Amino acid sequence: MMKKAFRILSIAAAVLLLLSSCGSKKDGDDKQQNRTGESPETKPYSSMEDASADGKGTTLDMNSGSADKNTVSSKGYEIVVKDGLTYVGGVLIANKTYSLPEDYAPGVTSEAEEAVNKMEEAAKEDGLELFVRSGYRSYSYQSTLYNNYVSRDGKAAADRYSARPGHSEHQTGMAFDMNSLSQSFEDTPEGKWLARNCWRYGFIIRYPKEKESITGYMYEPWHVRYLGTELAEKVYNSGLTLEEYLGITSEYAD
Ligand SMILES: [Zn+2]
Repeated sequence: MMKKAFRILSIAAAVLLLLSSCGSKKDGDDKQQNRTGESPETKPYSSMEDASADGKGTTLDMNSGSADKNTVSSKGYEIVVKDGLTYVGGVLIANKTYSLPEDYAPGVTSEAEEAVNKMEEAAKEDGLELFVRSGYRSYSYQSTLYNNYVSRDGKAAADRYSARPGHSEHQTGMAFDMNSLSQSFEDTPEGKWLARNCWRYGFIIRYPKEKESITGYMYEPWHVRYLGTELAEKVYNSGLTLEEYLGITSEYAD
Protein backbone atom coordinates (compact mmCIF):
# COMPACT_ATOMS: atom_id res chain seq x y z
CA MET A 1 0.00 0.00 0.00
CA MET A 2 2.73 2.43 1.02
CA LYS A 3 4.74 1.73 -2.11
CA LYS A 4 1.74 2.23 -4.35
CA ALA A 5 0.92 5.51 -2.65
CA PHE A 6 4.52 6.55 -3.00
CA ARG A 7 4.57 5.75 -6.70
CA ILE A 8 1.45 7.83 -7.27
CA LEU A 9 3.07 10.66 -5.33
CA SER A 10 6.23 10.28 -7.42
CA ILE A 11 4.25 10.51 -10.65
CA ALA A 12 2.41 13.53 -9.33
CA ALA A 13 5.73 15.13 -8.43
CA ALA A 14 7.15 14.39 -11.86
CA VAL A 15 4.10 15.93 -13.55
CA LEU A 16 4.41 18.98 -11.34
CA LEU A 17 8.07 19.23 -12.25
CA LEU A 18 7.24 19.04 -15.96
CA LEU A 19 4.49 21.62 -15.65
CA SER A 20 6.69 24.01 -13.78
CA SER A 21 9.88 23.48 -15.78
CA CYS A 22 9.03 26.34 -18.12
CA GLY A 23 8.56 28.68 -15.19
CA SER A 24 11.33 30.45 -13.29
CA LYS A 25 11.74 28.04 -10.37
CA LYS A 26 14.54 28.47 -7.91
CA ASP A 27 17.26 25.82 -7.62
CA GLY A 28 16.22 24.97 -4.10
CA ASP A 29 12.67 24.10 -5.18
CA ASP A 30 13.92 21.83 -7.96
CA LYS A 31 16.08 19.92 -5.54
CA GLN A 32 13.08 19.49 -3.30
CA GLN A 33 11.12 18.02 -6.21
CA ASN A 34 13.92 15.64 -7.12
CA ARG A 35 14.13 14.36 -3.59
CA THR A 36 10.41 13.68 -3.53
CA GLY A 37 10.61 11.81 -6.83
CA GLU A 38 13.46 9.59 -5.64
CA SER A 39 12.50 5.94 -5.53
CA PRO A 40 13.16 4.27 -2.18
CA GLU A 41 13.91 0.93 -3.87
CA THR A 42 16.89 2.32 -5.74
CA LYS A 43 18.34 4.20 -2.81
CA PRO A 44 21.74 2.69 -2.04
CA TYR A 45 22.30 1.35 1.45
CA SER A 46 24.85 3.21 3.48
CA SER A 47 25.80 2.29 7.00
CA MET A 48 27.07 5.80 7.56
CA GLU A 49 23.56 7.08 7.05
CA ASP A 50 22.34 4.56 9.57
CA ALA A 51 24.97 5.69 11.98
CA SER A 52 23.86 9.29 11.91
CA ALA A 53 20.22 8.27 12.19
CA ASP A 54 20.99 6.02 15.13
CA GLY A 55 22.86 8.77 16.84
CA LYS A 56 19.70 10.80 17.13
CA GLY A 57 17.91 10.39 20.38
CA THR A 58 20.51 8.12 21.95
CA THR A 59 23.19 9.88 23.86
CA LEU A 60 25.39 12.52 22.34
CA ASP A 61 25.16 15.60 20.20
CA MET A 62 27.79 14.72 17.60
CA ASN A 63 28.17 18.35 16.56
CA SER A 64 30.22 18.95 19.66
CA GLY A 65 32.74 16.16 18.92
CA SER A 66 36.21 17.11 17.73
CA ALA A 67 36.18 15.98 14.12
CA ASP A 68 39.94 15.77 13.56
CA LYS A 69 40.47 12.99 16.11
CA ASN A 70 37.66 10.78 14.85
CA THR A 71 38.14 7.31 13.47
CA VAL A 72 35.70 4.94 11.86
CA SER A 73 34.64 1.40 12.83
CA SER A 74 34.84 -1.56 10.44
CA LYS A 75 31.14 -1.00 9.68
CA GLY A 76 31.69 2.66 8.88
CA TYR A 77 30.41 4.11 12.14
CA GLU A 78 32.17 7.15 13.44
CA ILE A 79 34.18 6.57 16.64
CA VAL A 80 34.27 9.73 18.71
CA VAL A 81 36.23 10.05 21.94
CA LYS A 82 35.05 12.92 24.08
CA ASP A 83 36.11 13.56 27.67
CA GLY A 84 37.42 10.01 27.87
CA LEU A 85 34.10 8.53 26.70
CA THR A 86 33.88 6.57 23.46
CA TYR A 87 30.83 6.91 21.23
CA VAL A 88 30.41 4.66 18.20
CA GLY A 89 27.71 5.83 15.83
CA GLY A 90 26.46 7.96 18.72
CA VAL A 91 26.28 5.06 21.17
CA LEU A 92 28.29 5.26 24.39
CA ILE A 93 30.40 2.11 24.55
CA ALA A 94 31.79 0.35 27.61
CA ASN A 95 33.32 -3.02 26.84
CA LYS A 96 36.72 -4.69 27.08
CA THR A 97 38.21 -2.45 24.38
CA TYR A 98 36.62 0.83 25.43
CA SER A 99 36.59 2.02 29.02
CA LEU A 100 35.01 4.83 31.01
CA PRO A 101 36.92 7.34 33.14
CA GLU A 102 37.06 6.68 36.88
CA ASP A 103 35.15 9.87 37.63
CA TYR A 104 32.33 9.19 35.16
CA ALA A 105 29.38 8.74 37.50
CA PRO A 106 26.08 9.56 35.80
CA GLY A 107 23.87 7.33 37.95
CA VAL A 108 20.99 5.59 36.18
CA THR A 109 20.10 7.82 33.23
CA SER A 110 16.54 9.11 33.26
CA GLU A 111 15.82 7.75 29.77
CA ALA A 112 16.91 4.24 30.71
CA GLU A 113 15.03 4.37 34.00
CA GLU A 114 11.81 5.46 32.29
CA ALA A 115 12.23 2.70 29.73
CA VAL A 116 12.83 -0.02 32.29
CA ASN A 117 9.80 1.09 34.28
CA LYS A 118 7.69 0.94 31.14
CA MET A 119 9.03 -2.53 30.38
CA GLU A 120 8.23 -3.76 33.90
CA GLU A 121 4.69 -2.37 33.57
CA ALA A 122 4.20 -4.16 30.26
CA ALA A 123 5.45 -7.44 31.70
CA LYS A 124 3.09 -7.00 34.64
CA GLU A 125 0.18 -6.67 32.23
CA ASP A 126 1.23 -10.05 30.87
CA GLY A 127 1.17 -11.44 34.40
CA LEU A 128 4.95 -11.48 34.85
CA GLU A 129 7.18 -9.89 37.42
CA LEU A 130 10.25 -8.26 35.96
CA PHE A 131 12.43 -6.26 38.33
CA VAL A 132 15.82 -4.59 38.36
CA ARG A 133 18.29 -6.51 40.44
CA SER A 134 21.27 -4.31 39.67
CA GLY A 135 21.44 -1.04 37.74
CA TYR A 136 24.04 1.68 37.94
CA ARG A 137 27.43 0.80 39.44
CA SER A 138 30.18 3.27 40.20
CA TYR A 139 33.78 2.68 39.19
CA SER A 140 34.81 2.00 42.79
CA TYR A 141 31.96 -0.42 43.43
CA GLN A 142 32.83 -2.32 40.24
CA SER A 143 36.43 -2.37 41.42
CA THR A 144 35.42 -4.03 44.70
CA LEU A 145 33.17 -6.52 42.90
CA TYR A 146 35.78 -7.47 40.31
CA ASN A 147 38.58 -7.85 42.86
CA ASN A 148 36.39 -10.10 45.00
CA TYR A 149 35.68 -12.31 41.98
CA VAL A 150 39.37 -12.43 41.08
CA SER A 151 40.36 -13.55 44.55
CA ARG A 152 37.59 -16.15 44.53
CA ASP A 153 37.89 -17.57 40.97
CA GLY A 154 41.13 -16.18 39.56
CA LYS A 155 41.57 -13.45 36.95
CA ALA A 156 40.92 -15.52 33.81
CA ALA A 157 37.63 -16.86 35.13
CA ALA A 158 36.51 -13.51 36.56
CA ASP A 159 37.17 -11.80 33.21
CA ARG A 160 34.56 -14.05 31.59
CA TYR A 161 31.69 -12.73 33.69
CA SER A 162 32.80 -9.58 35.49
CA ALA A 163 34.14 -6.37 34.01
CA ARG A 164 37.31 -4.72 35.18
CA PRO A 165 36.70 -1.30 36.74
CA GLY A 166 36.01 1.29 34.05
CA HIS A 167 34.91 -1.40 31.61
CA SER A 168 31.50 -2.19 33.11
CA GLU A 169 28.44 -1.28 31.11
CA HIS A 170 26.68 -0.71 34.43
CA GLN A 171 28.82 2.42 34.88
CA THR A 172 27.11 3.96 31.83
CA GLY A 173 23.83 4.13 33.77
CA MET A 174 22.13 2.42 30.83
CA ALA A 175 22.46 -1.26 31.76
CA PHE A 176 20.37 -3.40 34.08
CA ASP A 177 20.52 -6.89 35.45
CA MET A 178 16.97 -8.19 35.66
CA ASN A 179 15.54 -10.74 38.12
CA SER A 180 18.15 -13.48 38.37
CA LEU A 181 21.86 -13.77 37.68
CA SER A 182 21.52 -17.36 36.61
CA GLN A 183 21.67 -18.73 33.10
CA SER A 184 18.51 -20.73 33.88
CA PHE A 185 16.71 -17.36 33.83
CA GLU A 186 16.40 -17.81 30.05
CA ASP A 187 13.95 -20.69 30.61
CA THR A 188 11.67 -18.78 32.99
CA PRO A 189 8.57 -16.99 31.63
CA GLU A 190 10.20 -13.67 32.60
CA GLY A 191 13.46 -14.56 30.85
CA LYS A 192 11.63 -15.60 27.69
CA TRP A 193 9.50 -12.47 27.76
CA LEU A 194 12.57 -10.27 28.21
CA ALA A 195 14.40 -11.85 25.27
CA ARG A 196 11.36 -11.51 23.02
CA ASN A 197 10.20 -8.04 24.02
CA CYS A 198 12.96 -5.90 25.49
CA TRP A 199 13.71 -4.24 22.13
CA ARG A 200 10.21 -2.71 22.19
CA TYR A 201 11.34 -0.65 25.18
CA GLY A 202 14.74 0.21 23.75
CA PHE A 203 16.82 -2.60 25.24
CA ILE A 204 18.91 -5.46 23.87
CA ILE A 205 20.16 -8.63 25.52
CA ARG A 206 23.73 -7.42 25.52
CA TYR A 207 25.65 -10.68 25.94
CA PRO A 208 23.85 -13.34 23.90
CA LYS A 209 24.47 -17.06 23.88
CA GLU A 210 27.60 -18.37 22.13
CA LYS A 211 28.93 -14.88 21.45
CA GLU A 212 31.54 -14.77 24.18
CA SER A 213 34.39 -14.50 21.67
CA ILE A 214 32.77 -11.33 20.29
CA THR A 215 31.25 -9.57 23.32
CA GLY A 216 33.94 -10.77 25.70
CA TYR A 217 31.36 -12.12 28.16
CA MET A 218 29.52 -15.31 28.88
CA TYR A 219 25.82 -15.53 28.03
CA GLU A 220 23.85 -13.25 30.35
CA PRO A 221 20.11 -13.60 29.68
CA TRP A 222 19.46 -11.09 32.49
CA HIS A 223 21.68 -8.19 31.33
CA VAL A 224 20.00 -5.57 29.13
CA ARG A 225 21.45 -2.40 27.67
CA TYR A 226 19.39 0.65 26.75
CA LEU A 227 19.91 1.90 23.17
CA GLY A 228 16.65 3.70 22.50
CA THR A 229 13.79 2.01 20.65
CA GLU A 230 14.98 2.86 17.13
CA LEU A 231 18.43 1.32 17.43
CA ALA A 232 17.37 -1.53 19.73
CA GLU A 233 14.88 -2.68 17.09
CA LYS A 234 17.55 -2.59 14.38
CA VAL A 235 20.08 -4.51 16.46
CA TYR A 236 17.41 -7.04 17.50
CA ASN A 237 16.32 -7.60 13.90
CA SER A 238 19.92 -7.93 12.73
CA GLY A 239 20.49 -10.88 15.08
CA LEU A 240 23.93 -9.41 15.79
CA THR A 241 25.67 -8.43 18.99
CA LEU A 242 26.24 -4.71 19.50
CA GLU A 243 29.94 -5.24 18.68
CA GLU A 244 29.10 -6.91 15.36
CA TYR A 245 26.42 -4.39 14.50
CA LEU A 246 28.73 -1.42 15.07
CA GLY A 247 31.88 -3.17 13.83
CA ILE A 248 33.99 -2.91 16.97
CA THR A 249 35.96 -5.28 19.19
CA SER A 250 35.73 -6.15 22.88
CA GLU A 251 39.20 -7.22 24.02
CA TYR A 252 41.42 -6.08 26.85
CA ALA A 253 44.73 -4.66 25.72
CA ASP A 254 46.61 -6.93 28.17
ZN1 LIG B 1 25.01 -6.84 34.13
